[in-house]
Amino acid sequence: MALPQPKQSTDHAEYHLEETGVRVRFGVGVLDETGHEIERLGCKRALILSTPQQSDTALSLAEKVGGLSAGLFTRATMHTPTQVSEEAVAHAASVDADCVVSIGGGSTIGLGKAIALRTDLPQIVIPTTYAGSEATPILGQTEDGVKTTLVDAKVLPEVILYDPTLVRTLPVAMTVTSALNAMAHSAEALYAQNRTDESTQMAKDGLLAFVQGLPNVLNDPADLAARQETLYGAWLCGTVLGRVGMALHHKLCHTLGGSLNLPHADTHAIILPHAMAFNERTAAKELAPIADMLGAQSAGQGLYAFAKQLNAPLALRDLGVTEANLDDVSELAVKNPYWNPQPVTQEDVRAMLQAA
Ligand code: NAD
Repeated sequence: MALPQPKQSTDHAEYHLEETGVRVRFGVGVLDETGHEIERLGCKRALILSTPQQSDTALSLAEKVGGLSAGLFTRATMHTPTQVSEEAVAHAASVDADCVVSIGGGSTIGLGKAIALRTDLPQIVIPTTYAGSEATPILGQTEDGVKTTLVDAKVLPEVILYDPTLVRTLPVAMTVTSALNAMAHSAEALYAQNRTDESTQMAKDGLLAFVQGLPNVLNDPADLAARQETLYGAWLCGTVLGRVGMALHHKLCHTLGGSLNLPHADTHAIILPHAMAFNERTAAKELAPIADMLGAQSAGQGLYAFAKQLNAPLALRDLGVTEANLDDVSELAVKNPYWNPQPVTQEDVRAMLQAA
């Protein structure tokens, strides 16, 4: 399988994915190249996006790019409410922005994608978590409390800059849940109906990058080599999320998160071992690489032990979920049928949620 080969430029690795036109750069200090990347797109006025919590990071980036900044919009919000997106689009027009630079996790990247969907402005994305949204043409948006997901080539960012110095500030607990969120994309990619040899290889490589890199990150959160290895995993896992279909795990997390407003990454971290144990009933062969790389009897057991070793949240109860919630969620989760390697009934979902 031919993975895109890195083009070395000094100490930074670069990829250009010919089939999508996405330019991907990795390396310590690649953040400093943002101005160059804005100019390379033929742009002069970048609107810089962040959450309120990361406004300092956005401000320091604006100072870095100097005259190429058209200002900041720092109100990115989880689940991409359309009202915030409309306000951001109006702001982009009022400052005559010709591109957006999203610096942050999935929430900020979602806002950049929502602007691109409505304006077709090019996007430079600088991820600070492992969620992987930067590598997909997928956008989830919320209107009147209802989250819907769309796929559109317009929302796929043009440039991704992975600088490990930025994830260094990600708190350890979020590092772990965000990494398990990324690993979930690759885990489901292993049995996806439309998987290819290439997607399977990328999924395995992405999982391995986290299995190898994450314990080192936890040992020393400022270890830039380990942070870079895990960011490479995030790119691989995000890329497969954008290429193949997801099943039970993602659908269940979507239902749980949407109906109970649970934190996205924590929900993925808790559900993953249970969803994999369930799907191993029919997809044990496809999931065997996970068991192998974790040195476990099964993928479900291996992922549970890995999450426990990393002090990840292990129980839905810890997110405030009650027994009564489980009945409602299991009913909702089977309302719109979807493909899964192992057929899923409401009783199955209820039992899985009880175990979680
Ligand atoms: P997030 O973007 O919501 O970030 C959570 C919090 O952590 C925010 O306050 C953020 O500012 C802060 N933060 C982020 N990086 C930090 C850092 N390095 N240091 C300190 N603080 C930091 O979290 P997320 O898990 O990355 O994203 C979740 C959202 O992304 C969800 O809405 C989810 O649906 C979406 N998502 C979309 C896709 C897709 O393909 N469309 C893929 C994955 C996730």
